[in-house]
Order: sequence, then structure tokens, then C-alpha cells
Amino acid sequence: MNCPRCGNMVPDGASFCTKCGAQLTPAATQFLIVTTPTVAGYRIKKVLGLVTGLTPRTRGIFGKFIAGFESMAGGEVTAFTSEMEKARWEAIERAKARAIALGANAIIGIDVETSDLGLQNGIVLFSATGTAVTIEPENVSESATP
Ligand SMILES: [Zn+2]
Repeated sequence: MNCPRCGNMVPDGASFCTKCGAQLTPAATQFLIVTTPTVAGYRIKKVLGLVTGLTPRTRGIFGKFIAGFESMAGGEVTAFTSEMEKARWEAIERAKARAIALGANAIIGIDVETSDLGLQNGIVLFSATGTAVTIEPENVSESATP
């Protein structure tokens, strides 16, 4: 992660910046992902660009669950949604990894879409797209001493 005060690269989970000595609060070290174009309580310092995370799933997995619906009348709904959720989060995690590589500490306007890659492959692609940004709390303490 980057120090919110000087931008120096510091190890994840560090409590103080090794360069400027700023105290790194849990809020400052947290990576935020929101669907909105802004983050309440924070201002956007820098827009780093679009990031996308992709995760493919074979249709077979879903086909199996769908077959389950028909015979069990809803008994498999939670298993199906949890597989969908897992795929969604995997796509988001990959987008997050790219954002971190760009030096971002947040993704705004994230959106997850599914698309069918083709009839022959039977692959469903989950893609998470958002804007990688660096944000800082609106009320940054001016005091240099922790
Ligand atoms: Zn610093």
C-alpha cells in the first residue's frame, strides 16, 4: 500500500510510514471497493484508470444446478447463488489486484457483468470493471506527530 500522506510504499499492515512517520490508521490501510462514483468521507486524489478482473466458469456447473432446480423445485437455490457469488468475488478480487499494482487504494464504480463466451465452449465469463483511484480521508490531520 501507499502512505496516504507522502505516497511512500509501505508494507501492508504497517502502523507507521517508514518515510514520513505518519500513523497509518486501519481506515487508511483498507482497500475500498464501491459501486458509487464517489466514496463518502473521502476525496479522490488521483484517477489511475480502468481495471478489469475476469473469471471464467464453465456452463456445466450452472447446468447441473439448473437441472437441480427443475427436479427439486428450489432446493438447490442457495448452492447456485453461492457459486455465482464466488465467481463474482473472484472477478472483483482480480480487479483489486490490478488496482493495487497501479498503486490504487480504492476502486469506484465497480460493476460485475456476465457474458457467454460461445456456444461451443460453454463458458460463462464474469468480468468486474471499475475505476482504480487513490483516495484520502476528507479530514486529514495536519499534525506531524502521531
Ligand atoms: Zn509517508
